[in-house]
Amino acid sequence: MKRGPSVEISIDSIRHNYDYARGLSNNRPVIAVVKADAYGHGAVKVATLLEELGVFCLGVAFVSEAIQLREAGITAPIMVFFDTPDIAEITRYALIPVISEVGSARTLSEMALRYNMQVSVHVKVDTGMGRLGFVSDIDEEKIKAIATLAGIKVTGFMSHFSEADLVDMNFANVQLERFVVLKARLINHYGGHYGGVLWHIANSAATMYLAPAHLDVIRPGLMLYGYDPIREDNPNLRPAMTVKCRVLDIRRLPAGRSVGYGRTFVTQRETLVGVIGVGYADGFFRALSNTGHVIVNGRLAPIIGRVCMDVSMADLTDVINSAVDGESTPQECILLGSQGNAALWANKLARAAGTIPYEILTSLGRTPDRTFT
Ligand SMILES: *Cc1c(COP(=O)(O)O)cnc(C)c1O
Repeated sequence: MKRGPSVEISIDSIRHNYDYARGLSNNRPVIAVVKADAYGHGAVKVATLLEELGVFCLGVAFVSEAIQLREAGITAPIMVFFDTPDIAEITRYALIPVISEVGSARTLSEMALRYNMQVSVHVKVDTGMGRLGFVSDIDEEKIKAIATLAGIKVTGFMSHFSEADLVDMNFANVQLERFVVLKARLINHYGGHYGGVLWHIANSAATMYLAPAHLDVIRPGLMLYGYDPIREDNPNLRPAMTVKCRVLDIRRLPAGRSVGYGRTFVTQRETLVGVIGVGYADGFFRALSNTGHVIVNGRLAPIIGRVCMDVSMADLTDVINSAVDGESTPQECILLGSQGNAALWANKLARAAGTIPYEILTSLGRTPDRTFT
């Protein structure tokens, strides 16, 4: 029997969310972020859909992810955010590299000249993320130097907000300001040389809540999968991933018995303990021990005791005792999703587990075994 939970992805929901993002940005072109296997939703399927919808470009973290998409037949432009493809990969797979320092730009330039090519690149600007890229107010000369390298054509500039949830809108505005100032300075310096070059900085939060950041192209990830990085419930978005697992057994324990490793839960009453087939090895966070829930028969049931490697325990007493006549013993439970009046989406799990919805999705979705509806 197959191990672990089963993951269902609603392609229609992703379509809806993509349309919503476009609408919000006045139909700007979209660089749709499908890194980390499309946040656990299956990059090939998601990219296929986005391509059908006419997406402007796809964004991945690493060259290997781009190659996976090309080998699956994806033809849309692909931008690689974090590692730099070599010239053979750029030509063979038609990739758009992102340049974050002068050395790799020089190497690329030399290779492009040798192959008598011109490579289109986007330049990464650090406006406050402190990760990769040319520091907007320090490295201006270096950026200008890249523009003079033969064999390379700068077709875009990108920057990234250091707060995915833009809780500190003031700092987001500082970053945006630095980016826009740089744009103005480069335009002045080159006298329009940069016309037609695309400037982009808008992640999901900025797409939804910071319209001045939309600039030329938006670059959303999380919202495509149905989550708002700021509001826990946003009725305009549709979460695309549902995760279920099997109920392996239901045991009746008297009051006063401990459940699971470390005996962190002790029954206060006669308890129906559901043993469910998901554990931290499946991306079900151990931090959900004694704090998370699952949905069984359309009702929330608390996780009791510690989440184990392969299985976990849930208190099904109320769910089963309130079952209506004819309702059968539960065979499965929902870890992520909704049923009846109960909903358990990644924002809520993230709060219970002390993390962010991004990590919930990439953890629970980390399986090649998904069903698409
Ligand atoms: C992940 C990522 C995004 C998307 O961010 P979301 O918060 O998921 O919308 C955009 N740009 C870059 C460079 C990224 O790495």
